[in-house]
Amino acid sequence: MSNQNGNTKPKLALYWASSCGGCEISVLAIHEKILDVAAAFDIVFWPCVMDFKVKDVEALADGEIDVCLFNGAIRNDENAEMAHLLRRKSKIMVAYGSCSMEGCIPGLANFTSRDAMMQFIYHNSPSTDNPDGVEPDPDWAFPEGPAPLPKFWNTVKTLDQVVPVEYYLPGCPPEAEWTETLVMAAAAALAGEGELPPPGSVIGNKDTVCDECPRTKNEKKIKRFYRPYEIVPDPDTCLLEQGIFCAGYATRSGCGALCPQVNMGCRGCYGPNEGVDDHGARLITGLASVLDAKTDEEVDAILDTLPDPAGYFYRFGLAHSMLHRTDVAHAPKRDGN
Ligand code: SF4
Repeated sequence: MSNQNGNTKPKLALYWASSCGGCEISVLAIHEKILDVAAAFDIVFWPCVMDFKVKDVEALADGEIDVCLFNGAIRNDENAEMAHLLRRKSKIMVAYGSCSMEGCIPGLANFTSRDAMMQFIYHNSPSTDNPDGVEPDPDWAFPEGPAPLPKFWNTVKTLDQVVPVEYYLPGCPPEAEWTETLVMAAAAALAGEGELPPPGSVIGNKDTVCDECPRTKNEKKIKRFYRPYEIVPDPDTCLLEQGIFCAGYATRSGCGALCPQVNMGCRGCYGPNEGVDDHGARLITGLASVLDAKTDEEVDAILDTLPDPAGYFYRFGLAHSMLHRTDVAHAPKRDGN
């Protein structure tokens, strides 16, 4: 398809692997600018929005897609198959959103194992009613023929743990302005009117949420933590100084400090700021420096008021962290897992 100048338009693909769907909606949050995207690109694959099939992608030449926005983590054979297919067909692969970039909420499954999850979900959860002990069968066949399910992996992976990735767009989901920035910059670069950042770049700011948070900051000396229901926060003072956990000090800015501005501590969905590999480790070391404690006992007493520290520190970044998972040695030997 051609644009109004008669030139062939670059091709854009969008795909949704293991994620909640918020990233797909975030693309539409650019509102009327989506018309600019449609004008600049030939959208060749976006199964959430239009009726594309996998065979449409398979029919393209390798490298024929110019930009692919791939959201979602990789946790089953279908996710991996699509990641490999779209990688082969795309010049620029973008890990779009936290699940694809860091594992995000699906990545928390790496604290346990596939077998443990299956056991709980299909047998032991309080709401399970499954007297025959049925579990999903990847090799299921109807009388009419096979109806295979994608095999569910033991380990949730990020996109770049499965295929090479050119760019990363953080956020759960990414803020619309960064989506627009990336897509239109790619369109301009493909038209020879600009340059993209070096491959491997994270698209967005480099500093932290604290840097864009309007709350007043003073010296932090935390004596205890509070759950949101335990305290009415001062609306103008740093939440962390009030004992409300906030990950803004080690989280990449770009959201406009949306959560702290409504009295909710930052949860870290933009991942670590520039130059930090392990978000959780940075959050832990940062917090250690502001606890008002002189002895190990005092440290323990303060940390006892912070429930679910793993969930606070690794909520978004576990799959991409140095921890990786709890039982890699026992993971099944499958392709890509
Ligand atoms: Fe930083 Fe959070 Fe405090 Fe704002 S409320 S200054 S983001 S720690």
